Amino acid sequence: QIFMPLNFLGFVYREIRGSLANIDKLFNLLEQVPAIKDAADAKTLQTSNPTVSFNDVHFSYGEKRKILKGISFSVPAGKKVAVVGPSGAGKSTIMKLLFRFYEPNSGEICIDGQPINTLTQDSLRSHIGIVPQDTVLFNASLRENIRYGNPDACDEEIEQVIKLAHLEAFIEKLPEGLNTTVGERGLKLSGGEKQRVAIARALLKGASIMIFDEATSSLDSASEKAILSALRDAAKGHTSLVIAHRLSTIVDADEILVIDDGQIVERGTHETLLVKQGEYASLWQNQQRDKLEN
Ligand code: ATP
Repeated sequence: QIFMPLNFLGFVYREIRGSLANIDKLFNLLEQVPAIKDAADAKTLQTSNPTVSFNDVHFSYGEKRKILKGISFSVPAGKKVAVVGPSGAGKSTIMKLLFRFYEPNSGEICIDGQPINTLTQDSLRSHIGIVPQDTVLFNASLRENIRYGNPDACDEEIEQVIKLAHLEAFIEKLPEGLNTTVGERGLKLSGGEKQRVAIARALLKGASIMIFDEATSSLDSASEKAILSALRDAAKGHTSLVIAHRLSTIVDADEILVIDDGQIVERGTHETLLVKQGEYASLWQNQQRDKLEN
């Protein structure tokens, strides 16, 4: 019951953190978030291996500025589609629309051909696991922090997601293992460790659609490798949408969408986009150069 509202607050927090100068702005922002209501005849989403599709989606956050300008793509069942592009291009907005935090101005978002605005929000969200950029850890044991993804999960299920999220070696080194207290008053986790806890949480939820919003914070190469393996394993068997900042995360994606100013400017696999020598190829070359220099 509290998982989704807290996740949502996480989004709001992240959005205001950078720019909040005073409390008035906080209330302005909260007022701008429209309350989405279920249709009177809303149906329950029932799907086990869903296809997600965006059809000519246009969106703006209320003001005049258009954020998404005709986005169309689909993530076939069990496949992985990645979204890359400069900061502010509209990547996270795509994710928020799929989760139905906002409604498109026009166009349609469907799961297995069912428009998501005809579904109950509870059933829609129960099928989507989110790994957010910023993960909130509570002052509780690591076990409880992971169990938060599904309070009914048993210890075996927790062990399983720990393996998939590549957290085993990290937990083994902790004096109290899974019972170690984390959060503000406990052990502080690195950005990479936190994101793997988020992956474990999202997997525990057992949703068939996974959204990964990769953290922008820089990682050392060991952390990056661990995240990479965790993302790969976690995406298996799920319909996955990955918002990537490090292109190394998504070289294996079935399709990569390059977004700029609310539009898809390039699309293809890693290999085809490199051959094209366009925006993706120059992003890739820049990141490779940065890696060599650091
Ligand atoms: P980044 O890589 O920095 O996370 P992004 O590509 O995910 O960026 P979005 O977060 O989708 O970009 O934002 C797209 C545009 O929409 C930005 O200009 C941003 O300032 C604006 N925006 C995002 N959220 C809101 C909001 N709640 N209200 C008004 N404008 C917003």
